This record gives sequence, C-alpha cells and structure tokens, in this order.
Amino acid sequence: MSRRTFAKLTALGTAAALSGINNVGASPTEMLEKMTETAAEAPTDVNLVKSHCSHCAVGCGFLGRIEDGVCTGMEPWIDHPVNRGSMCSKGTAIPEMLNSETRLKHPMKKVAGAWVQMTWSDALDEIASKMKAIQTTDGPDSIMYIGSAKVTTEECYLFRKFAAFNGTNNVDHQARICHSTTVAGMANTWSYGAMTNSWNDMRHSGLIFFCGENAAESHPVSMQHILEAKKRGAKFIVADPRFTKSAALADQYVRFRPGTDIPLIWGIANVIVNNNWHNKDFIAERAYGFDEWWAVAKDYTPEVVEDITWVPAETIKQLAYDWAHPPREGKPACICWAMGATQHTVGTNNIRSFACLELLMGYIGQSGGGCNAFRGHDNVQGSTDMCILSHWLPAYYGLTEGSWKHWISVWNEHEPITFDDMKAKFAEYGEGSLMHVNGLTVSRWYEGVLDSGVKQPNPVKMVFVWGHSLNSISEMAKMKEAMEDVELLVGVDPHATIAASLADRPDGIIILPAATVFEKDGSVTNSARQVQWRNKLVEPLWESKPDMWIMKELADRLGFGAHFTYESPEDVLREINRGACVIMMRESPERLKRQQENSADFSCEDCQAKSGPCEGEYWGLPWPCWNDEHPGTPILYRNDIATKDGGNEFRTRFRGADSTPGNPVSDDGVSMLGEGYDYPDGYDEMNCDGTPGSGWKYDLDCDWKAVLADNKCPSGAGRGRFRAWNLPDPVPIHREPIESPRPDLIEKYPTYDDVDDLYRVKCLFKTIQDERKNLVDKFPLILTTGRQVEHMGGGAETRSCEYLVELQPYMYAEINPTVALALGVNWDTDTHLGDDIWVETLRGKCRVKAYVTERVNDETVFMPYHWAGVFEGVSYADRWPAGCGELAYGDSCNIITVDGYDRSTNMQETKACLCKVYKA
Ligand code: SF4
Repeated sequence: MSRRTFAKLTALGTAAALSGINNVGASPTEMLEKMTETAAEAPTDVNLVKSHCSHCAVGCGFLGRIEDGVCTGMEPWIDHPVNRGSMCSKGTAIPEMLNSETRLKHPMKKVAGAWVQMTWSDALDEIASKMKAIQTTDGPDSIMYIGSAKVTTEECYLFRKFAAFNGTNNVDHQARICHSTTVAGMANTWSYGAMTNSWNDMRHSGLIFFCGENAAESHPVSMQHILEAKKRGAKFIVADPRFTKSAALADQYVRFRPGTDIPLIWGIANVIVNNNWHNKDFIAERAYGFDEWWAVAKDYTPEVVEDITWVPAETIKQLAYDWAHPPREGKPACICWAMGATQHTVGTNNIRSFACLELLMGYIGQSGGGCNAFRGHDNVQGSTDMCILSHWLPAYYGLTEGSWKHWISVWNEHEPITFDDMKAKFAEYGEGSLMHVNGLTVSRWYEGVLDSGVKQPNPVKMVFVWGHSLNSISEMAKMKEAMEDVELLVGVDPHATIAASLADRPDGIIILPAATVFEKDGSVTNSARQVQWRNKLVEPLWESKPDMWIMKELADRLGFGAHFTYESPEDVLREINRGACVIMMRESPERLKRQQENSADFSCEDCQAKSGPCEGEYWGLPWPCWNDEHPGTPILYRNDIATKDGGNEFRTRFRGADSTPGNPVSDDGVSMLGEGYDYPDGYDEMNCDGTPGSGWKYDLDCDWKAVLADNKCPSGAGRGRFRAWNLPDPVPIHREPIESPRPDLIEKYPTYDDVDDLYRVKCLFKTIQDERKNLVDKFPLILTTGRQVEHMGGGAETRSCEYLVELQPYMYAEINPTVALALGVNWDTDTHLGDDIWVETLRGKCRVKAYVTERVNDETVFMPYHWAGVFEGVSYADRWPAGCGELAYGDSCNIITVDGYDRSTNMQETKACLCKVYKA
C-alpha cells in the first residue's frame, strides 16, 4: 500500500469513526460513498480476501489485498455490518505491521549474553525436555502458562486444554487485567459476564453514558454508532477523570476523581429513588435485593458524593434526571466502560454498580439499553469465553469435579481419558488436589516465583509468555526479578517483545516466532459476542508458525499428542460447539462462513440479515446460540421476544443452600424465579426434556428444539441481583484506593482487610493503605493511565509500524499547565510537548516527556500504557535480537502503578495511585 493510500484510508476511517474531530458533518452514508469511490480505484487483478482487524474488539472487517501471495494493502469491506468499511489509524496500518521487518523471524535462544538462532525442532525439544524435568522434580504447578487474547478462539481453547493436560491451573491471560472485573461484576448480577447489547444497538439509545471509557481513542470505529445516536437525539455523557477525545465529542463532560465510581453511581441512584423515578414493576418482577441495596445507597446523597468525587451535587441531580428521563423519547439509557472502571481494587464493585443502575430503571434487556463493556484485544471476548483463566475451564465451567467430567467427556473423543487419569496429572496440596483450586493469575504470577509462601508445592520455575505483553503488568520491577529467577522463560509471539529484553540475564530465554492472525484461519469474537470467521491472508512469513501448530508439536513431545489430533481450526471449533454449553456457543464454522459470504444482507441497524440465505440470523450468531437453527442472541435478557428468536432471560444461576430443583432461593430464602411477566410462575433452569434441572449446562447432545418451541429459555427465568450475597461486598460500597489523596476518607471508607490466599498468594490491602495514609504529603498528585489511538496493548506491534510511530513517537505524561509552571517545565504551546520529567511513585520512576494540557486537572497526571524498552530512564534497546527491535521505546507506566488488586479477581489497580513529578 502506498503511503498516499495509507494516508487516505486513515483519514477516511478516522473520519467515519470520529466525524466530530476530523470530518465535521459527514454522515455515515456520505462516508460510505467516499469509501466506495476508494474501493473502485483498486486494481481488479488482485485477490481481495475478507478479514478482521486485530487491534481492538470492535471487530472491524476489511479486505486484504493479496498479490502473488503477498499482502500489499487493504480495501474497505463496505457492507460489513459493524464498521461499514471504516477503520481507524491502527486498523489501516495492518499490512505494514504484517510485513514488518522487525518481526521475529526464527526461533532464538539467549546464550552467554548473545542471541543465537535455533531450528524449530531443537527449540521445541529443549522446551519440552525442560518442562518434563520441572514437572518431575518440582511438580506441574511450577510452570506458569501466560496465554493470549491475540490468537483465534480455537487456539485459546487449545491453550486452556494444553495447561489442563500439563496438570495445572496456573494458566491465565490478558483478560485478567482488562475485564475480569467486568465478568465478575455482571455475571454476579445477572449471570452472564459479557457486553449485553452491541455497538450497532447503541444507535437506538436515548442516553449513552461513558464511565471510564474513551472510545474515540480505544475503539474509534464504534464511535460512528454513538455519534449516529447523538444525531438522532440521544444525549452523550462522558464521565472521566480526564477530558478525553470522547469527552470532546460529548454533550456533557463530568470530571470525577479516579477511584470514586461507586459513590458517583450511587449518588445518581440515590436521587432517582428519592424522586420515585425508578422502575418499580421491573424491580418487583425481575430483580432481587432492592431493599438491602437501598439501605446502602440511601446514604450516598448528592452532597456526600460531591465531597468524595469532585462532582457538584447539582450535577449529580441533573445526571439522575437525565438517566431516568433520556432525552430521546421512549428510548432507554446504556452505560459503557472499559479499563477506566475495571482496573481498581473495587473493580468488580464498580461494574456491579453500573449493572444495578440498569436494573433500577429496567433498561437492561432492551434495545438501546444495557451494559456495554468495551473490550480491548480483537479476541479478548473469545479468549475469555475459552477461559484462559486460572479459575475456570472453557466456557465458564468451574473447577469442580462435575465441570472436569464434562470437558473430559468431550476430550475423550480423541483418545479415552478418565477423570482419574486427569486427576493423576495434578499435584496434591493442602486439603486435596490442585485441580480444584484456582491457579496463579497473570497479574501476580511473579509472586509465584518470588514468594516462598506460595500456596502450591514449589515456586514457579518456568514461564510461557505466549502472546502477552508483560509491560501491561503492574509491579514491573518485581516481575523483572522473577523473569531473572526462573530457570527458563519462553516467549511465543510474532514479535520479540519484552519477554526477550526485560530480564537482565545472559541465558535461559527462548523466543519462538508465532504467525500473526493474518497468516492462519480461525474465529474471533468481538465485544458484542459476535463470532466472525477470519480468513488466512498469506502464508506465515519467515519461519513463523501458527500457535496451533506449536501447541500440537509440544503436546506430541510431552506425550499427550493423541488428545490434540485436530486437522484444522474448523475441527477445533466443532469441539467447542459441542462442549461450550454454559454459553451455548454453537456457532458452527459453516454458518460463520456463510454469514461472511452474505454480509451485504445484514442490516447496520440491528445486525440482522433481512434477506438471503442467512435471513433472520444476527451477525456473528451472538451467544447463547442454542442450536444450528438459532439466530443468535444480540441483546441479553430481552424477554419481549421468544428465546428461539433471540430472546433471553436472567439465568437462575444463583441458589442459596435451601434451593431445590424447580425452586431456587437466595441465601435468605427468597425465590430467585422471576414473576409477573411472560411466565406467571417463572421457571428454573431445565433439562433437555423441559423438566427442572441443570441439564442445559451438561447435555452435549440436546438441541433444545422442543423447549424453545415452548417459548422457554433453557437456562431459566431468574432475577437480577441488587444484592450478590456471595461477594465480599454483597452491595458495593465506596472504598478509597490503596493510595488516596484524602486521608480523612481513608478513615471513613477503608479498603479491604488483607487476604492470605488470593489465587495462591498473599494480598495486602489494609496494611499498605494504613502505611500510606499520609502519602499525599510527599506524593501529591494522582496518577492514572490509559490508551493512545495510534497504539495498542503493550505496543509491540504498533510501535513496530513506521507510520504509527511517526504519528505517535513518544512516551509522555500529561500534566496540567499549572503544575508545569510550578515545576519550571517549559513546553511548546503548539505540540504541548515539553521538557523531560520524572514521574515517581513508591514503586520507582519513569523518565518521559511532559505533555502539558488541560485535559488533566492540576491534581492528576495521565500516562499511556503501550510503552516499553526503557526502564527507569535506561534504554534496553540493545537487548533485542538484531533486527527485531521496535521502532520507538519509552518507559512503561506499569513500573510505577500501585500494588493494589481487585478483591475478587486480582485485577490490578492502574487507574489511581499517588505520584510526584519533577523536571529531569
Ligand atoms: Fe476497528 Fe478497532 Fe481495528 Fe480500529 S482498532 S480498525 S476500531 S477493530
């Protein structure tokens, strides 16, 4: 692709997504016309192959332009129902990244301080041999498997299975540190933990409320749907500690203090209930625990909340009015978030509070309403569904004996294996087998190396870093130490990444070149649960290999290759279709490919095919997709249409001890069956024959036809929970961040007590908060982190693209002009860039450029998190294998973010800690 074409496509894509910034006034239709003209300019003697962007979970489609087996560019996929041809700057850089000269080209090993090329065979033999040795001497839990959200769903599934056959639950990935609290917060409210509606559905919202999301930079193309809703009369409100690019497009911006989401939301809810605006019918029919919730929320008056959050009481009252009366008549309100809300010690509670705000008005289960978690990586929904997570088996099955037996019955079809065979692979520790115990998490895996008190037989001695950017993880100095302590570190990625460069060691690292997602076939699931088939564009470049091939080769060498006898990704997806019953992920490869071929038949308004062979189906067959004829469920918990047509109910998942089949009750004996709407008596989850039971989760062969024909939802009709009795805080309450600028509020709203065993390691809460109670005296500013539109995740891919690096070459920290003046920092008023500064916390310090702007107030500092290659001001550029270095480096903010973690999921707190800034 020529630079001119790149610039043109970038401008078009960005304009379509961000018409308010770059192309004021252009309608989606006008943008579509412009793109049609662009596509018409493409030469006709090239092969255009449908594919999907790999940079965020919007799931934008594009056409890869293939000439003689080489990807020479891209063209817009104009009738793709989600993006309609538009792409953002990251997306349009895909050919450049695919062909990047800095990709890892061969297996490499570090020997005596130098990088040495290996053959694949030698590399895999050495890795397998070391694995066997560690499994024999230290036990299977001494190997940590860090997986990837950047591979296909099939490969995610195989990775979780690979860890299981290696006898450990020490397997985890990015979703732990981006949306694990989303899953926990939503699943504990109404049973599924995914985005309830979709990007396109936001066109039908009456009010769109962003709380900790900056889609204009992180999910740019999704903005076309939001701006369309705005054009149709919806109000768009952005609440964020920082005036973001999304805030610039909003009708209203609300600045609030990092870490105070719950009081902000409870303040809004408080005004709604006091004015009697809440939806009492919905609450009576479909919710549980309102009174207990109100006993907490009644104390968060606007005046109390103003003191905690920075938000004036009058603004809270106005937000409450707007939430209860969306300006676009007859349309509900939705709430959207990303890591601004999830990455906190109270992350799970933040998301619970959002879900309760939806319950309060009954907006959940409606088009235009719902909870829209904007996920990051292109397949982080798929990787979450496949549960590369240390506390689940694929498709959200727990670690109980019943769950293991379920998957063993699926895996059995390759070669016989019994539950006892599988159990024998796992170590015993404490009161029983570790096969039933949560493993270490990616957020704190290094504690498994360094902590002599880790709750497993021996510390971690070897780690796989498979497609994960380690610079995304907090406490980097500790992690660096762990990377230097393990006996072998294996990196698997298209790029060398900091797996190759961060550890200060002369040997003990092997890095394997994985193929990119454009060099293999497979499915990916975007944030809206839409499953899309991605075609291979080109054969893997250099010596890179698909991840599935690498896993199969290792499985052969480790003696369980007979359980990995797949011929193709389609084989794997069919196995997933069979076993993933909790979410009914029955989107067959054939149906997905048929949708891809007929994308023009799908409407942009509701993502439904209005004609053609897929007529009636929703794009991506969003789960639950109950059988081979089901259209998919685009809006969760919508009960005004039949389940067979895409309707759904709150699952009857939550059951107190006194529950019986057919009669699930809460811990305090209240029926958890919904009532008074479609089904007068409600009903429990059921077996394939329609009788009460739990068959829907375990019955591999049931296709649910009879039950669906009866207009029943096999997972039951339950209640959404205001009170989640199984969580540390059944009703969310405000808890100050570990490091707070308000010592007085720490007294009033303290964090949690310390926990001795949180995913196998100790986690300090109260102890460190108390120790740092007056930290604000020495570290007076609040540090928060976030994204840049040009970069993605840990940044190894995007910082290897010359165009993106040219657009965004520097790591920086945003500081307010008042702070800059006080510190004597000089800056250019055109570029906002200024002198180098140090940003320092109790964990360490980063040397970065000052970016002087009023986006942040004079109490806040913002740093983007995509950077690596510099550690506390020292460049590590010479540590990459020759020719494999990235094109831009910077200090990683995760060297200095706080050592606080979500009480339920171990999510790291990157959005609120205390720092000081000074001129470098
Ligand atoms: Fe679309 Fe996201 Fe890719 Fe941008 S990064 S083109 S918004 S999928």
